[in-house]
Amino acid sequence: MDHGLRRSRLGERLAGLEVDGLVVTRLPNVRYITGFTGSNAQVVVAADGSAVFLTDGRYGAQSSHEVPDLPRTVYRQGFPQPLVDACRTLGIARAGFERHGLTYEGWEQLTDRADGLELVPVGAEVEQLRRTKDPQEIALIDRAQGCADRAFETLVLGGGLRAGVTERALALALETAMVEAGAEDRAFDSIVAFGDHAAEPHHHLTDRELARGDMVKLDFGARSDGYHSDITRTVAFGEPDQRLREIRDVVAAAQRAGIEAVRPGASTVDVDAAARSVIVDAGHGDTFPHGLGHGVGLEIHEAPSLRWDGGEELIEGMVVTIEPGVYIPGLGGVRIEDMVEVTADGRREIPRATKELRVL
Ligand code: ZN
Ligand code: ZN
Repeated sequence: MDHGLRRSRLGERLAGLEVDGLVVTRLPNVRYITGFTGSNAQVVVAADGSAVFLTDGRYGAQSSHEVPDLPRTVYRQGFPQPLVDACRTLGIARAGFERHGLTYEGWEQLTDRADGLELVPVGAEVEQLRRTKDPQEIALIDRAQGCADRAFETLVLGGGLRAGVTERALALALETAMVEAGAEDRAFDSIVAFGDHAAEPHHHLTDRELARGDMVKLDFGARSDGYHSDITRTVAFGEPDQRLREIRDVVAAAQRAGIEAVRPGASTVDVDAAARSVIVDAGHGDTFPHGLGHGVGLEIHEAPSLRWDGGEELIEGMVVTIEPGVYIPGLGGVRIEDMVEVTADGRREIPRATKELRVL
């Protein structure tokens, strides 16, 4: 990863914000521009791309090898005086800070100590850069998804669904299988929903036991070197209710339409509409309450957001999910989710795990 290049690109954006430096406090952004993987650090970046990295004593040794290319401040005194000092070192008089990365308390402390340093709130600048992925990032997302695919195939399709297994136990087994397949961790709290529990889009795990006739909704992901994957599959344990079979076909058609609408230059609103209209036309429009998808990378949910509002243009190198769903209280729900890379000539679907309805 060329972190120096990323800092230069960030520096180039600063003139347009009328600041001569940016205080980066959101950890995924710190990681993106330095490679640091610990739980506390900040970076001050100047317009010419020069920067100072700051962390506390727990991460002195770790940062010395993860961030060998930057001057580092390992502070004893806490936030924010070292940040103010770093701005001075870099000759920054007017500093932007990530308005979405500070608590109100943090803002009060920063302004208390600013002492002549002018502070300007700025929006999601690093996140804007992170929207498009370079080939190394794509490779890590692919690798993470490969672990999730293998876990699904070996565990779920390979006989892991048994009467009496609980949602909690199945989720844990799935997460273990992802790590055994090479993931560094799960990407997020897995969603495993049996039967009518699947009517909640983001169901929380329970001790409910699997029974014949249940449809099973699994939304899970793996993480590889900090990069996430995200997939949802719905399978049947024994012959499911005919209405759920019909809903599954609608959701599958909606997802296909959404995936085929992905291309550089397409609006996220139009991609959402391509999938949503299939569900609306089938009479289920009021049962699809969430957006169609989201970007995936160093965070499980990141820009761009694919929804019915706030449109933005898809760009080559983005990785987004396409995840329509239909949820019927008392009956169940179906969601099918895949990550798609926006390529020069359209799209590439990342997961390889089958999305045909498997009756197990
Ligand atoms: Zn998901
Ligand atoms: Zn998702």
